[in-house]
Parts: sequence; structure tokens; C-alpha cells
Amino acid sequence: MNLYLYQNQFLPKEQVSISPDDRGYYFGDGVYEVFRVYNGNLFEPEGHYRRLEKSAREVRIPLPYSLERLHQYLTELIQANHLQEGTVYMQITRGAAPRAHPFPPTHTEPVLMAFCNEIARPKSTMEQGITAITADDIRWLRCDLKTLNLLANVMAKQHALDQGAGEVILHRNGTITECSASNFMIIKEGELFTHPANNLILHGITREVVLRLARNLDIVYHERTFTIEDLLSAEEAFISGTTVEVTPIISVDGRRIGTGRPGPVTRKLQQAFEQLING
Ligand code: PLP
Repeated sequence: MNLYLYQNQFLPKEQVSISPDDRGYYFGDGVYEVFRVYNGNLFEPEGHYRRLEKSAREVRIPLPYSLERLHQYLTELIQANHLQEGTVYMQITRGAAPRAHPFPPTHTEPVLMAFCNEIARPKSTMEQGITAITADDIRWLRCDLKTLNLLANVMAKQHALDQGAGEVILHRNGTITECSASNFMIIKEGELFTHPANNLILHGITREVVLRLARNLDIVYHERTFTIEDLLSAEEAFISGTTVEVTPIISVDGRRIGTGRPGPVTRKLQQAFEQLING
């Protein structure tokens, strides 16, 4: 069964009808979240709801209902689709109105749509690691908002794939921010470094989890900027994200990181992540 949540109804995909005037379609005028589902349960839902509330507030899209209500709907969606392992994608646009840049009339209803995606965990890439390339971060200055405007991310990701790499590491004048759909971390002298959670990166839920696990494991971490040079001389590097979990980066721009194999600190964090999921 592939039931979608559309506004407050559960419908087969074919019956979901979205207006061509939807502002998500014209302007990418909307916000979204991607939740992980492990063993039939939403992973870290509170963090996602907090981020959703912030994204919606900052772009001034009213949430169609309370977060408690939304949680009920998403839980029902997972159950209705019998989803055990995968993701839930959810987006809310500013609604449908004739194309014009100003906000639509106040009676315009935001449009909420959510669906389940049955996907396996990225076990082999987590085990073996992936390669990456670097590219200019040409995005706007509110990367902390999870909005539908993802063209720069899409272009960057495709650039990486075209080069035969698995992910792209974005930088602003040599200072690394994050990746096209994940946060980025390096290990130097046994300590973890990641970009501060400011307006230049998405405040990843997995990033928060990784930092919490690092704290529990007595791994010293710094939310501090670092450069491509720092990365190239790092012992380890990895990305974190809802779909990639904790995936090692073994080479960047054709240059090996550390030993060119997933390193011990990354492995420790992966193991702790695994325990959290199964605990
Ligand atoms: N950074 C960007 C640009 C992303 O798109 C994502 C997730 O899609 C992340 C980081 C990781 O965030 P999360 O851990 O909440 O999935």
C-alpha cells in the first residue's frame, strides 16, 4: 500500500492532486523534513519538529496543525503503510495562488503532503566509505532553514556524481560548510571538528545525535570552522545525515584521507549509533 498524507486525508498517490499554482512548484516556496523510521518508529521526532517549526516560522508559513497532531498523522501514515525501515518525507508549501512574488491572500491554505519511502540502511557505504569532491558553496545565507529551494544542492550533487564521487563537500572561500545533503566532520589528533550550527549549514538531526554520542564516548569535539587544507591533513572524515547515517569519506578530490579506510573514531561513532537505533 502506498498511502499519502495530503492535508488531513490518507489517499493513494494517484488521488493526491496538487494545483499547478502551488507556490512550491513556482518558487520552491515551502519547507520540508525527512524523518528516519527504524523498527516502525520515527527516529528523533522532537528534533525534526523543532526544526520544522523554526523553518516554517522564519519563512512565515503557518503550520496547518499542531505538532502533536502532525505526530499522530505521521505515526498513522507509517502504520497504514506497514513501514518498518525507511523514511517519511513531508513538505508544507505556502499554498496555491496565481503566480506572483508577494505572499498570497491570507485565506490561502498551506498544502501539506507526506509519504513513506521503504529504503534499506546504507550498510555497504557505511562499511566501506565513499569518495567526495569539493565545490564552491553557492547557496543563499539561510542554509539553516530546510526549504524546498534545493537547486544549488541538486547541481552540486550531480557534479559529484558526474565526477564519479559519492558526495560533494561544499566550501566558502576554502572554509568547509557541509555537503549537498549531509553534514561534514573531520577527526584531527583524535578530536572531532564540525562547522558551527549557524546560518551557513543545516542543523542536522544526525549531527546533533553524533555530537551527543561523542560526548558520551569522551570524544572531544569542536563546533568550529576548518579549511580544505585541514581536511586534507585529517586522520578521518565522515558525513552525517538521516539517510546516510554515519558514512566515512575515504578520499577527497582524488586524495586519500588518513589511511584511505574508515578510521577508528568513525567506527566508534557508528557502533554507538547502531546501539542507539537498536537500544
Ligand atoms: N545538510 C543538508 C544540506 C541536508 O540536506 C541534510 C539532510 O537532508 C543534512 C545536512 C543532514 O540533516 P539530517 O541529519 O537532519 O538529515
